[in-house]
Amino acid sequence: MNLEINKFGGASIKDPQRMQQVVQIVQNQVSTPAVLVVSALGKTTNALEKVVAAYCQEKPDEAKSHFQKILQNHFDYCRSLFEGAQLDAILNELNDTFVEIDWFIEEPFDSEYNYAYDQIVSVGEMLSSKMLHHCLKAAGLNSQWLDARDVIKTDNKHRMANLDWTLSHKLINEIIPDLIKSNSIIVTQGFIGCTSENFSTTLGREGSDYSAAIFATCLSANKLTVWKDVPGIMTGDPARERPVQKLNKLSYDEALAMTNLGAKVIHPKTIKPLAEKEISLHVRNFLDPTSEGTIVKNFDEDIEYPPILIVDDGNVFCTISVKDNSTLSEEDQSTIFNDVDKFNIQLKLDQIVDDRLLLCLGDPFENINGFVESLNDRYEISIEKNVQLLTLRNGSDQDVKEELEGHIILLKKESLNTVQWALHLSN
Ligand code: ASP
Ligand code: MG
Repeated sequence: MNLEINKFGGASIKDPQRMQQVVQIVQNQVSTPAVLVVSALGKTTNALEKVVAAYCQEKPDEAKSHFQKILQNHFDYCRSLFEGAQLDAILNELNDTFVEIDWFIEEPFDSEYNYAYDQIVSVGEMLSSKMLHHCLKAAGLNSQWLDARDVIKTDNKHRMANLDWTLSHKLINEIIPDLIKSNSIIVTQGFIGCTSENFSTTLGREGSDYSAAIFATCLSANKLTVWKDVPGIMTGDPARERPVQKLNKLSYDEALAMTNLGAKVIHPKTIKPLAEKEISLHVRNFLDPTSEGTIVKNFDEDIEYPPILIVDDGNVFCTISVKDNSTLSEEDQSTIFNDVDKFNIQLKLDQIVDDRLLLCLGDPFENINGFVESLNDRYEISIEKNVQLLTLRNGSDQDVKEELEGHIILLKKESLNTVQWALHLSN
């Protein structure tokens, strides 16, 4: 379909000035028809997580006060963009969305944490998308707002919901082409979906990129552009001291490897569906909207990559051995890996050394204690938190000399053009 998908993350709309810049980007850089997929404003998701935590700890007053702050922020934001009757109408519309959550946290907590999380946190994207839609309309653009939950259908694995590809594909194609006939721009939400029982779900933190890829894939879009606060996909984290350079071209394979290895620039589930349909991904800088950014697609020529460094902090390093004097069998490994999956833990690196299984794990839902408890009858387990996983692609040990200096290497693993270190940081 002759269509572009554009994704705007939270940083691109973190304040009213940025929102105005996004409107200009849509006017000047985005060709229509287009679907715009948007995240919650700035750090709203983090703020909503505080509401969830207080609510689920049965501290209703605290939950309400966090929630009031979020509401005020959104209202103040709108007040600096709109006035008069238009402002009133928008505030009313946002208020309807807020009221739903108000009612939700009014009821005592008697459900599952992850379920409550999705009902509350999903509101961030509902609000930001309505605001962007109204800003586009105020600028004279032919925008239509779409509730992503009408088309993004998932299972009920709350906080990490799995997409029902068949149903979502069908609904997206039933609804969006029709909307595009009379509107050149569709504004919808990233990150959120909906179960068959109509409960909101979320696709995992930073999941809006993945939502955008879902829309692009289901609609066979021409391309997906993700607007970021960096010049493109870089050879390292630009926020760190080490000099980095922009990668102009990346193959799907390299981008897939980088994101799977923990590069935060794009959500790891984004690349695969795009690659299968050969939809190119453009990562561009909203602070410098005329610059080229990075293009991810299949290139005819082989690309020579410079060394690429990926730093992934906050992991758990786990050492597991069998308590009695038997050796670690295949069955043991299968029990352990099953529990990794059961507790929604991410396996990042594993190796058997001297009859001990060494694992570097991501624990986004803080389930590691449950994981250890479920295994500690049979296994001796030690864990260390705050472990850094450092990954180098296409380089040599010399390239990471400074990064390794002074730190304790818990595990090093080498495969083809990738070397990884799990590090106990000494400062
Ligand atoms: N707002 C969500 C988050 O902060 C989703 C996203 O930004 O992609 O995780
Ligand atoms: Mg974000």
